[in-house]
Amino acid sequence: MTDEIECYEKAGKILKKVRSDASAMIKNGLPILDLVEFVEGEILKTGAGIAFPCNVSVNEIAAHYTSPAHDTNKLVTGDLVKLDIGVEVEGYIADSAVTIMVPGDNLEELYTEDELELRQNIIDASAAGLEAAISTVRAGIKVCDIGEAVNEAISSYGMNPILNLTGHSLEHWNLHAGISVPNYNNNDPTILEEGQAVAIEPFATPGDGIVNDCPEAYIFSFLRDRPFRLKSTQRMLKHIEKNYNALPFSGRWLTQDFNEHRVNVALQQLGEAMAIYPYAALKERTGALVSQKEHTLIVESDGCQITTL
Ligand code: MN
Ligand code: MN
Repeated sequence: MTDEIECYEKAGKILKKVRSDASAMIKNGLPILDLVEFVEGEILKTGAGIAFPCNVSVNEIAAHYTSPAHDTNKLVTGDLVKLDIGVEVEGYIADSAVTIMVPGDNLEELYTEDELELRQNIIDASAAGLEAAISTVRAGIKVCDIGEAVNEAISSYGMNPILNLTGHSLEHWNLHAGISVPNYNNNDPTILEEGQAVAIEPFATPGDGIVNDCPEAYIFSFLRDRPFRLKSTQRMLKHIEKNYNALPFSGRWLTQDFNEHRVNVALQQLGEAMAIYPYAALKERTGALVSQKEHTLIVESDGCQITTL
C-alpha cells in the first residue's frame, strides 16, 4: 500500500515539474507539436512513462486534441489552451490539466477589456470548480455531491460546467477505472472510499456545456486482437497491443515506427473493426470557449492528498 502511494506521489511530482516548465513555454506562434513533444520528452527523460498523449486543446476544443505528425497548428495570443498531462510510474497514474491564456504584447490590441475579462472568468470558473470539489472530498462522499459543489462554484462565475465530461477513478494501469465524478449533481450516489485515486476535472464555458465529437481522432486505445488481411495493418495492431495495450496512444507515436500513410490507413481500419477505440476531439457544441482544471488526489478518511499540486 505504501509503495502504491509512493508511486502515485512520484508520478505527481514529475507531472508538476513538466506542467510548470511546459506552461512557461506557452507563447504566440509556438507550434502545438513542439509543446506536446516537449511534455512527452520530459516525462520520458525522468524514466517515468507517458500515461496518455499530451493533450493541447485550444479554445472551443475541450479535450482530446494532440498533434498528429507534422501538425502545423500554432498557438495564438489570447487562445485558451488546455494543457492536459498524464504521467505513469510503474502503472500508477498522475493526471492533471491547466488552462492558460496565451500571453502576448498585442493582447490589448486584439481583445477589448470585456473580452479579456470574460476569458479570465472562464479560466477562474473551472479553477474554482476544482477547488470546491477538492474541499468536499473525503471517504464516504457521494460523487453527486462533488458534482453539486463544482456546478455551484462554476455557476457563481456566470459559467456552465460541461455536463458530459467527468472526472474518473484511477487504478493500476487503468486511466478510467469505473467511477465517474460529474461536474453537476447527477444523483449518482456512488461513494468514494479511503485510498482510492481519483482525477477531478471541472470544465467551464459560457456556452451550453455540452461537447460533441469532432470528425477527427488523434488519440486511441487498444481494444482487442482481430485478423486483418492487410499485412501492415496486422503488424501495426500487434505493435499497438505490445506497446500500448493498457493506456491510450497517439497516431503520431506510430509514425516513429511505420510509414505515415500506412498509419492513417491502419488507424481507420482498426477503428472500424473495433480493434482500437478512437477518442474523437471534443468541441463545445455552440463553439464557445472552454477551460479545464484537473488534479489527481487520493481519498483519505477526512480529506484527500493531492498528488499533482
Ligand atoms: Mn487529464
Ligand atoms: Mn482525467
